[in-house]
Amino acid sequence: MAMAVREPAELVEALKLPAELAESAEAATGRFPLLVPRSYLARIRPGDPGDPLLRQVLPAAAETITAPGFTADPVGDRAARRAPGLLHKYRGRVLLITTGVCPIHCRYCFRRQYPYPEEPRRAEQWRAALDCIGADSTLHEVILSGGDPLILPDERLAELMGRLGEIRHLRRLRLHTRMPIAVPERVTDGLIRVLQNVRLRTVVVVHANHPQELQGDCATALRRLVDAGFVTLNQAVLLRGINDDPDTLATLCERLVDLGVIPYYLHQLDRVAGAAHFEVSESEGREIIEELRRRLPGYAVPRYVREIAGEEFKAPLA
Ligand SMILES: *Cc1c(COP(=O)(O)O)cnc(C)c1O
Ligand code: SF4
Repeated sequence: MAMAVREPAELVEALKLPAELAESAEAATGRFPLLVPRSYLARIRPGDPGDPLLRQVLPAAAETITAPGFTADPVGDRAARRAPGLLHKYRGRVLLITTGVCPIHCRYCFRRQYPYPEEPRRAEQWRAALDCIGADSTLHEVILSGGDPLILPDERLAELMGRLGEIRHLRRLRLHTRMPIAVPERVTDGLIRVLQNVRLRTVVVVHANHPQELQGDCATALRRLVDAGFVTLNQAVLLRGINDDPDTLATLCERLVDLGVIPYYLHQLDRVAGAAHFEVSESEGREIIEELRRRLPGYAVPRYVREIAGEEFKAPLA
């Protein structure tokens, strides 16, 4: 993380891109700074301003345009907050905002405007959320999200997981993390031992949007998670100019399956302020899914869904 690229000028120089791109990125960054870890940088093609990985991380002038319907809290996180760091939307499962920190800054992120400073940082600040979970025996699953839960050092993660494991009615622990894609070297033997050392069945949901992300050490990290026995799923976001065509998504899904990772969700973009230029229409999305169904085994086709604030589940679109 200390070695990650944080300055547009540095990114542009490293990738041999035109200097104007650094200027426009600088102007568009706002309160969500550029952040690209070295391993991810190594998977971006130099000299290509249209590279699908670059587009996920380089601030673009379009982020400063206000678009109607694109807001700070597009999925009703505020209304779902039950305690500091605890979101409860769906029956049987709750989500913990374990940290506000991410290993990479994805420009389309639906939590790019989330008020992270209000959420717990120190271990003792989790008391209220854990009490809430302990008091509700209808809960069977806790999702560690964020930010990215694998930002936490192994000891902190182990402590939190240990406390969750003591809650008798919990059966499953899910991690929503982009770390194996952004910083694959985070998937160490030590981390795997921490994840295995819990009473709960552990499910890992990673987040890759493009097959080019799955190269080299990323593929190794995913295979290690699968080989360690975790149910490993992928969620992607349908993104204009990045993966909005059947060829790209079919390749992504097939490579995931070859690594043992099941494509879980393809999300319609959440309408967060600053991300309108990434939106693909639902009708285009449906056509892409239909084509994926023609090309792939059923288990390799992700569920195409949209999150609607206040709904009881993520709504299927196809
Ligand atoms: C998306 C989400 C979940 C998980 O939903 P699944 O359909 O089970 O993957 C759980 N809680 C919150 C708050 C969510 O936003
Ligand atoms: S890693 Fe996830 S939470 Fe973090 S910026 Fe990217 S999409 Fe958002």
